[in-house]
Amino acid sequence: MTVNITEQIQEKAREILSSGQVELIIGYQRASDGVTARPAFIRKAENVAKLIFDQTCTHNLAKYAIEHRGKSMAIVAKACDTFGINVLIQENQIIREKTYVIGVNCPGVVEVSFGQVGDKLQYRCQICQEHAPAVYDYVAGDPVEEKPLGFDPYIKVKVLEALSQEERIAFWEKHFERCIRCYACRNACPQCYCTECVVEQIDPDWVGIPIQVPEKQIFHVIRAFHLAGRCIGCNECERSCPVGIPLSLMNMKFSQDVEDQFGYKPGRDPEVCAPLATYQPDENLGIGG
Ligand code: SF4
Ligand code: SF4
Ligand code: SF4
Repeated sequence: MTVNITEQIQEKAREILSSGQVELIIGYQRASDGVTARPAFIRKAENVAKLIFDQTCTHNLAKYAIEHRGKSMAIVAKACDTFGINVLIQENQIIREKTYVIGVNCPGVVEVSFGQVGDKLQYRCQICQEHAPAVYDYVAGDPVEEKPLGFDPYIKVKVLEALSQEERIAFWEKHFERCIRCYACRNACPQCYCTECVVEQIDPDWVGIPIQVPEKQIFHVIRAFHLAGRCIGCNECERSCPVGIPLSLMNMKFSQDVEDQFGYKPGRDPEVCAPLATYQPDENLGIGG
């Protein structure tokens, strides 16, 4: 029998709010367009009926956990969102004991955008091979059978890698020309949480304020390096971009390199730190002979 994920989430939310175990539920509710979903912040048991879960629930709610850090909260999390939660626990941004995770065995989310709901799974879901939450206190939904992909998940990166250096530079310059430096990609990202982002710092002024291609390039390169080994592939950055820049290509390239070099995938184990965020005083970096 297929379980009703929405009912399961509502029931658990009611229970833990009524008992005082948490003061806030971060989940999904139907958006005002009537078809897509948006984040919901439920503080009273009588409001849990607003919570929903379906294949339009695309947001990575780990982002909002940071804003409510210190509170006892519950968060509805698809499998990939739980990887983001683990990274935040690992980096001491949220407290595990105060964060009740309502994990979801995830059937995948479809393409959704400004009132439009498609029937095609998002690309990240087409290549997903981990549908079960990595950290949870309760799990909603039936387990999803993991099937072999039958194609290379990094095929889009390989097509780009096959181009010459000049062609790759031209590819990214063409896209970065269109970037309006609105920072929606950064703001949607659960792993971008610095109080003052390096690209907005004015003392020292690391990156100039103009929106010429070199400044935009440096923003994207800095962000990609800061996310290397920390990006969990939720693709919220690309989905948030108003001009459709294919940021997932850059994210996937870095993820693939970190996995190849270090055998590391972020967020699977909160005890293991990201290789590029770890420094051992006695490690040999091969610098200085
Ligand atoms: S990538 Fe996997 S866990 Fe994440 S939304 Fe898609 S199917 Fe669900
Ligand atoms: S960089 Fe993009 S894909 Fe990676 S964690 Fe941030 S929002 Fe998700
Ligand atoms: S969301 Fe798009 S346009 Fe805005 S800063 Fe990011 S890449 Fe540029």
